[in-house]
Amino acid sequence: MRRTDRANDLCDFCSGALHEGVTEIELRVEGDWLICENLPAQICQQCGEAYFSAKVTHQIDEIIAKRKELKPLRYETAPVFSPALVSSQ
Ligand SMILES: [Zn+2]
Repeated sequence: MRRTDRANDLCDFCSGALHEGVTEIELRVEGDWLICENLPAQICQQCGEAYFSAKVTHQIDEIIAKRKELKPLRYETAPVFSPALVSSQ
């Protein structure tokens, strides 16, 4: 998660071109797992790194701070795996 208050429109990691888009992020905060979706971002077309404006970064911080009081859009479940479930070859 990167802020985008920058002069150029190139990715810091791979120098790929950035384009306006929408993305989601997963966060773990003090044992809570949360997903934020519909985040406007500048997204690298080459490696997929997302850059967020100061406004969106602030909104994410606010969601994190208020995560116990806000009503989530919905809940999702995720499958859990371990190496014991597959062969070692
Ligand atoms: Zn990149």
